[in-house]
Amino acid sequence: MIPLDQHPSGRHFLQIPGPSPVPDRILRAMSLPTIDHRGPEFGRLGLKVLAGIQQIFRTRHPVVIYPASGTGAWEAALVNTLSPGDAVLMYETGHFASLWKKLAERIGLAPEFLALPGVDAATGLPWSWRKGVQADLIEQRLRADTGHAIKAVCVVHNETSTGVTSDIAAVRRAIDAAKHPALLMVDTISGLASADYRHDEWGVDVTVSGSQKGLMLPPGISFNAISPKALEASKSAKLPRSFWAWDEIVEMNRQGYWPYTPNTNLLYGLSEALDMILEQGLDAVFARHRRWAEGVRGAVRAWGLPIQCADASVYSPVLTGVITPQGVDADAIRKLIHERFDLSLGTGLGKVKGRMFRIGHLGDCNDLTLMAALSGVEMGFKLAGVAIAGSGVQAAMEHFAAHPQAAPLRAAA
Ligand SMILES: *Cc1c(COP(=O)(O)O)cnc(C)c1O
Repeated sequence: MIPLDQHPSGRHFLQIPGPSPVPDRILRAMSLPTIDHRGPEFGRLGLKVLAGIQQIFRTRHPVVIYPASGTGAWEAALVNTLSPGDAVLMYETGHFASLWKKLAERIGLAPEFLALPGVDAATGLPWSWRKGVQADLIEQRLRADTGHAIKAVCVVHNETSTGVTSDIAAVRRAIDAAKHPALLMVDTISGLASADYRHDEWGVDVTVSGSQKGLMLPPGISFNAISPKALEASKSAKLPRSFWAWDEIVEMNRQGYWPYTPNTNLLYGLSEALDMILEQGLDAVFARHRRWAEGVRGAVRAWGLPIQCADASVYSPVLTGVITPQGVDADAIRKLIHERFDLSLGTGLGKVKGRMFRIGHLGDCNDLTLMAALSGVEMGFKLAGVAIAGSGVQAAMEHFAAHPQAAPLRAAA
């Protein structure tokens, strides 16, 4: 028998910034029988999802789909384009940027980690974990690299550990201003299909993403969107690769197939997710996330707690980091909320562990699921004896009531 605590009554509130809740429509699509991955139906499915995902990345160039979590696509971006010992300029925005750098070291690259120096005295948190990429630091560093030793610049678009986005177009301008030939690689694993993203327009060479965040799928597939310049670089790149190699995949994808068995049922799910997102339109999807984020930030302000993102121009539409008062263990509050209200919040990662928690507001949410999440947090604060300035729940209710969605949720009767 399955223990009762795995199936409490009502629904679980999965408010972590990925995996995000999977809509019933997608779960049903994934329950179709697995088919022959060399058969004709599969080829049609493959061509459909490959064309659809290009629209999500806003690219006309190939997007490779791996049966792997986002970490695999991180590795794929690097091993396809770089050679052993290559210098790579990475930028510390938080825990995920740090993990990508660690991966680069482990596969034999020589990453340099740029960061905004200093610690915020009020919260004790590093400034680099509260702000986005500072493109001027990248430009300065590239200008100093007159021998063009640096082969790639790698940044995270939506830093999921902090709730801070970065201005990718500004990073492109910095590379161009320095007249530097480095490739631009961007992780938007948690930004894609929730936050505005433009692979071609922003001149990104490799964009890395994954399935379990804005695309509303379970974990298990991930992506590399590839510019012509990156594809060209892959022809002379010397890092060893086989499973991750773009060449055979891109070739077979032309007919809708893969060199090995793809993740058939997740591709059914992807096909459904693409229908849902493209029917609504990307701009409407982004507006929906911005509106939710504003409501959640209103709650945090009413509680009188600092929002981890310290720059209002780069607030994440995907998640909000909430800094707890010094001496209050954010994980103890999260645990209490999970036990009492069956609500999962994101833990503080790396340098901010115990100092903050994260509220995810992405994918298959609505105003009332977010109100439930905020109620759980507010009750948790009260139970844990955390002094709050006022009711965040009240503030969010007022925000959502006063700011209707641009299009009504249901057609008038
Ligand atoms: C989730 C996430 C990852 C890691 O992806 P996995 O699917 O866990 O391997 C990397 N970067 C960012 C920004 C993420 O949000």
